[in-house]
Amino acid sequence: MSSAFADRPRGRDGGGTLPSSPSVFIALGSNLGDSEAILEEAFARLATLSDHPLLRSSLHRTEPVDCPPGSPPFLNAAAGLVPSAGLTPEGLLALLQGWEREAGRRPKVVLNEARPLDLDIIAFGTEVRNTPLLTIPHPRATRRRFVLAPLAEIAPGLVLPGERRTVGEILRAWTQDAGAV
Ligand code: ADP
Ligand code: MG
Repeated sequence: MSSAFADRPRGRDGGGTLPSSPSVFIALGSNLGDSEAILEEAFARLATLSDHPLLRSSLHRTEPVDCPPGSPPFLNAAAGLVPSAGLTPEGLLALLQGWEREAGRRPKVVLNEARPLDLDIIAFGTEVRNTPLLTIPHPRATRRRFVLAPLAEIAPGLVLPGERRTVGEILRAWTQDAGAV
């Protein structure tokens, strides 16, 4: 992680201080509507919350997991940002949920039904929350390949709070385990 911005311009002071690395990570998903355009728009909005250029993964086309029969495939991605001053986990969640609604998301009727946009907070620095409204690190982040693979693309060295292994190591271990989804 420490080298995430090593090839980018130095900090605002123009001096020798290394800019901070992204510490807030978001999982993006869409399997309804023009998913590519919807995710592009979400990336653009996330960039406005970051003090440094947004880290963004490529778009991963994935098969639905634990979704109703006949669900369309997903486009999944991950983003990493350096939170602007004053951004809190709760404030970020409220923003993300507003963007989900703007993208056309309706209150769910069926578990994991198709949605134009899903934005989950994977991690917010070292912050930990354990309420139904907000659980961080996201409890399913390291159990879902569609979350872990895009995350490993942008932050292979990231160690999520409570984990011993890096995201890249967890994904590599999975690759040897045929049971992972
Ligand atoms: P899912 O992401 O599992 O498909 P939803 O997007 O419908 O489900 O979110 C269900 C609830 O999960 C939301 O009401 C939200 O408050 C809660 N939630 C808990 N932790 C998080 C998190 N880390 N990121 C996003 N939502 C979360
Ligand atoms: Mg969600």
